Amino acid sequence: MLKIPISEIISRIKEKTGLDEKVIEKKIDDKVEELSGLVSRDGAAHIVANEFGIQLFKTTETGLLKIKNILPGLKTASVVGRVLRIYPVRVFTTKKGNEGKVVSFLIGDATGRIRIVFWDTNQIKLIEEGKLSEGDIIKITNAYVKEGINGLELHARSASLIEVNPNIPEAKEIPPLDELWQLSERVSIKNITDEGVYEIRGAVVNILENNPFFDVCPICKKRTHDGFCSEHGRVEPKKSMFISTIVDDGTDNMRVVFFGKQAEQLIGMSSEEAYNLSKEHNDPFYPIEVKKIDILGRELVIEGKVSKNDFSGELEMIARRLTTPNPIVESKKLMKELEK
Ligand SMILES: [Zn+2]
Repeated sequence: MLKIPISEIISRIKEKTGLDEKVIEKKIDDKVEELSGLVSRDGAAHIVANEFGIQLFKTTETGLLKIKNILPGLKTASVVGRVLRIYPVRVFTTKKGNEGKVVSFLIGDATGRIRIVFWDTNQIKLIEEGKLSEGDIIKITNAYVKEGINGLELHARSASLIEVNPNIPEAKEIPPLDELWQLSERVSIKNITDEGVYEIRGAVVNILENNPFFDVCPICKKRTHDGFCSEHGRVEPKKSMFISTIVDDGTDNMRVVFFGKQAEQLIGMSSEEAYNLSKEHNDPFYPIEVKKIDILGRELVIEGKVSKNDFSGELEMIARRLTTPNPIVESKKLMKELEK
């Protein structure tokens, strides 16, 4: 089943025709009745949209979908994207005892990222023989969409057409590799399975107790060691802080670390102020302890860089931008999502 919410279909019809929502709803209900209950209300909405000549699945002129527009249930989808990451080829044994292979890789365009899966030995060979590598552009025609554990996946069929570095205009629109990794996209924490830059919306559910203070150079803000900056020599260090938290967005949780400005913003106190307060109470964690009640459960939009912690091996985010969800921006974001 194609999961386009009926509200989205209605808003598309409204956008195209200028009809009132009530009128559109009536048309959908009439259609259900006309087809004597053979189709669901959702199905009827699709038909009404079609009657108005509205294409619910926007494609480019060549039929290529932007990654953002790849929806669950699509039985045929074509896409062009840049290969961001190739995962190792896996070998498995089928129920009949035959050996099979599968490989997956991540591609991206300016609108998002998606995992591609190859089952066909000839397609897998492209990777095994180094004919498809990270950074290459790939065009896949006639694949199908599946919901995997980590979000949507696009599976190639044996009949799918695979083109590496095709000479088409759409390929030229795809940002270079480093830019693609820098593009942040709003994601659910459970879908963060790889390093990259992401935006999440969630609540701080825990703060890890530690001594948050460290010394920085007053000129370059880099960490100093015993009053020495590697660039500026002996300096009068300033205090900075880091706060290590657990953020939960309802799908999963992740360690998010706030440094410097972001940490100050989180607790609403400058590092110097916090440091003086901690001295007064002879407890480095005191300033955070007193702010805990304000921070815990507060919903935040956090953009940050996710990388593997060398020590724990787990993915964690270093916050680089922190905002409180703004209802206007959030609803615009939602509208934009729906328009796509
Ligand atoms: Zn310095």
